[in-house]
Amino acid sequence: MGKDDFVTLYFIVLGLIAVAYFVYSLMVEFETRRRQHKTITILSAVIIGTFMSLIALPAAVLIIPFIALIAFQNLRHTKVCVNCRKFIQSYNLRSMIVHGAKNKCLKCGSELEKVIPE
Ligand SMILES: [Zn+2]
Repeated sequence: MGKDDFVTLYFIVLGLIAVAYFVYSLMVEFETRRRQHKTITILSAVIIGTFMSLIALPAAVLIIPFIALIAFQNLRHTKVCVNCRKFIQSYNLRSMIVHGAKNKCLKCGSELEKVIPE
């Protein structure tokens, strides 16, 4: 397989995963999505990292740490609103402006919780 074939395959796989995740998120319970958030984030980072390695191997040495960093930031900053059942990035600037605090839901204003409760 050539490099162009991997690029085409990457976008096909990424599109299929996006559609599958959208359907999945509509079908499963909020608590199940909440429990599986960490697994899905790490799995998507691995899939993207694998394809980046196949497409551009020398440059992937530079790209993979950034993919890992983005996955880590997603795990660290994503919070949930139990009231309206949304996943929210806690560094959302608009939320800070609208509600005055960064730990409030943008939609309903209630307190946000960590994805995985302690
Ligand atoms: Zn809310």
